[in-house]
Amino acid sequence: MLDLSKYTKELSKLFSISENILLICHINPDGDAIGSQLALYQYLKTLGKDAAMLSPNNLQEFLKWLDGADKIKVFIRNRKKAIDLIKEADLIVMIDFNQASRLGEAEKYVVKADAKKVIIDHHLDPHDFADLIISDPSQCSTAELVNDIVNIMIGGPFINKSYAESLYVGIITDTGNFEHGAFSGKTFRMVADLLDYGIDKEKIYNLIYNNFSADRMRLMGLALNERMTVLPDLMSAYIYLTKEDLNNYNNVKGDTEGFVNLPLSIKGINFSTLFIEKDNFVKLSFRSKGQFPVNEFAARYFAGGGHLNASGGEYYDTLENTISYFLKVLNDNIGKLKHEE
Ligand code: 5GP
Ligand code: MN
Repeated sequence: MLDLSKYTKELSKLFSISENILLICHINPDGDAIGSQLALYQYLKTLGKDAAMLSPNNLQEFLKWLDGADKIKVFIRNRKKAIDLIKEADLIVMIDFNQASRLGEAEKYVVKADAKKVIIDHHLDPHDFADLIISDPSQCSTAELVNDIVNIMIGGPFINKSYAESLYVGIITDTGNFEHGAFSGKTFRMVADLLDYGIDKEKIYNLIYNNFSADRMRLMGLALNERMTVLPDLMSAYIYLTKEDLNNYNNVKGDTEGFVNLPLSIKGINFSTLFIEKDNFVKLSFRSKGQFPVNEFAARYFAGGGHLNASGGEYYDTLENTISYFLKVLNDNIGKLKHEE
């Protein structure tokens, strides 16, 4: 685990000398990105700082109930305002990512901004594009790391209910409600404290996992029945969804969340891929069971990254060509996949 004390000193100093603090998360923000962003926002409020919040693109529907989520500005919805926020900031805190490309269209503005820059993250191999990098891949989520940092800074209990709920959302979404990822005894001790504090775990579970449309359920049916290919010899399975599929089922952001995990429940399938067709590229999500490093696979072949067992990337070609390319590189890696079983 990272020794946080020297980092928190430096971060405290940056917080205290900065007037315009901007908290920015990664593109396609997940529950950990938004939860960690909102938790830091709550912490900064206790210092009397009203931080601005930015996301490169829209939030998933099932995260919009979080307190403060409506204050997060979306870059692609209001570029001018977002660029102004980046230019005006004297401190930019980047949350839950460690590659500048994860800023989407905001990347070029953030990279050349005059502000001091901080990364708070738990992914492997951070790129060096900030003045202070607080990176701890031993944490299950950035939320757990944020709580450790804030704990050192205030030496005490959770700030308020909104803060506690945001942290809990970060933890459950990055661990698939305690199914996978780097959760530890420490994570559960933090969760115990959150429960003692009085968060309503059923309410939060329902708002995150039982908050979808009937169309989303049917889209999942299509994905499993007609869009899934199982390759037992390669211990792999993949699902694709076309733009038309998504339109036919009135897709809203967040509807395909979790689909990539489904094939891993098949016996003998250790590697799962989801292809989502976009306007001029294909978005890929990867999941594995065991030691096959999907972050390396994503980085090597799909300009992406992530964690050992959960990663994502992109490929700028048609869906058909992307799947062919994927099958080729999958075959190239089958030895490794089998070896890591
Ligand atoms: P998901 O499949 O849920 O979109 O993402 C799973 C994990 O991979 C997350 O930790 C996410 O941050 C990371 N990830 C997803 N897409 C990309 C990408 O295009 N680039 C990088 N570097 N990481 C990604
Ligand atoms: Mn995370």
